[in-house]
Amino acid sequence: MSTVVITGGSRGIGAAAAELFAAKGHRVCFLYEKNHAAAKAVAEKTGAEAYCADVADGDAVREAFAKIGDVDILICNAGIAHIGLMQDTSPALWDRMFDVNVKGIYNCVNAALPGFLRKQSGCIVTVSSMWGQVGASCETAYSATKGAIIALTKAMAKEFAPSGIRVNCVAPGLILTDMCAMLDQQTLDAVAQETPVGRNGTVEDVAKAIAYLVEAPFVTGQILPVNGGYVI
Ligand code: NAP
Repeated sequence: MSTVVITGGSRGIGAAAAELFAAKGHRVCFLYEKNHAAAKAVAEKTGAEAYCADVADGDAVREAFAKIGDVDILICNAGIAHIGLMQDTSPALWDRMFDVNVKGIYNCVNAALPGFLRKQSGCIVTVSSMWGQVGASCETAYSATKGAIIALTKAMAKEFAPSGIRVNCVAPGLILTDMCAMLDQQTLDAVAQETPVGRNGTVEDVAKAIAYLVEAPFVTGQILPVNGGYVI
């Protein structure tokens, strides 16, 4: 049984990943920021352990990982999005996007890394977005953070491979979660129509792609699009 740590496990993609890895028989621990009720529901449903910690806060992350103990697999999924024009994105919001989406990964990887290096074994999956690959209008900060995650994944894969640690990334398209709650049904339908497989993505679609990357021993440094062909 491996210990899997998932950031952002209280809702959406992270909750689906918690459910899938728990069903595979792993010990699942997840971090969340503030939604205690959702975290409790996931913990009760899956048997996973919930830890309240803002990934942007290095001390909180180190404290959570100290309680968790030895980690085998790290899924860096926690993220926030913002839709708005570049000129309406305040410096504080810009910084928060990078602190959560990018520095959050730095904090979590550095918390897991000593154990990975000691064992000369470990697996990391990051969660980017198709907008990190091609950029989205009105999502400049989000796209920038998600592009940074792609570069960070490749750099970590090269640096950590000699130590037996694989690092891969999923780049989802539109996935039906709270993150898309601001999109009306007409927009969701339009995206589904423009998607070659003819539908929007589900959290299970992404969880399965994450599990594939965890279980593929000769795959590292790769960005796996999970977008139904929307971006090819
Ligand atoms: P979601 O439903 O909004 O859930 C976000 C999760 O991240 C929640 O568990 C939330 O915890 C946690 N979180 C947010 N900020 C955090 C912080 N500072 N520290 C710790 N946990 C934090 O999002 P989602 O759609 O599942 O997205 C998950 C990942 O997939 C994100 O990185 C997102 O960018 C990426 N993604 C999503 C889509 C999509 O269409 N949904 C597409 C491409 C990529 P609380 O419950 O406590 O708030």
